Amino acid sequence: MRQQFVAGNWKMNGSLAGNAALLAEVMAGAAQARCEVAVCVPFPYLAQAQQLLQGSKIAFGAQDCSVHLSGAHTGEVAVGMLQEFGCRYVIVGHSERRADHHESDEQVAEKAQRVIEAGMTPIVCVGETLEERESGQTDAVVLRQLRAVTQRLGEQTSRIVLAYEPVWAIGTGRTATPEQAQAVHAVLRDHLKTLGEAAGGVQILYGGSVKPDNAQVLFAQKDIDGGLIGGASLKAADFLAIIAATR
Ligand code: PGA
Repeated sequence: MRQQFVAGNWKMNGSLAGNAALLAEVMAGAAQARCEVAVCVPFPYLAQAQQLLQGSKIAFGAQDCSVHLSGAHTGEVAVGMLQEFGCRYVIVGHSERRADHHESDEQVAEKAQRVIEAGMTPIVCVGETLEERESGQTDAVVLRQLRAVTQRLGEQTSRIVLAYEPVWAIGTGRTATPEQAQAVHAVLRDHLKTLGEAAGGVQILYGGSVKPDNAQVLFAQKDIDGGLIGGASLKAADFLAIIAATR
């Protein structure tokens, strides 16, 4: 039985004072959580997360990393730096980065590899746009995105967390139905299983407008192992209700 996992993706939100209040509430409310819990914070707040979450059940991570290990890459952040600040997770290939920064499937795969080499866990995001869904390309798109990663990682694929995030559901309030989400998760799981038992057991999170009122039915699906939570991770009560909805 795979353990469920709820990860918050704060995106470009937060302030020192606001983060301290949010993390205090989340730590108190999630102390007895059944599932794994993490928050992925903006780079400047990693030191704060490291300090405040020390000794708690809540892990933390970053939202991106460089494919480069060091050097003349202005504005980039290397995996070694993230590791030094105690990150356990690094989101790679979020659709906002694929769209805003033109990240290719290959770059996303390379980032995932860097994260693993640095001893952390990449949360690899895949997902189709509305246009791709409506033209029947959903499975082909998510498999193309996943294959770039599995081809590069091989057996190391067992060390990732995968997140299915339909682009049309992110921040829109329009969630995939549990059946729609489960169907894609099953396709992803089938591909992972071809790489062996360990890869077949990778956690697959659903992301895209997960809220307290839809989390439970999503997390009850056979191949949904938790959620990657954007907007609702910024409100302690909502994030805690989603954590409580895991099985
Ligand atoms: P959302 O974002 O929960 O605000 O839709 C999810 C994500 O982009 O990870």
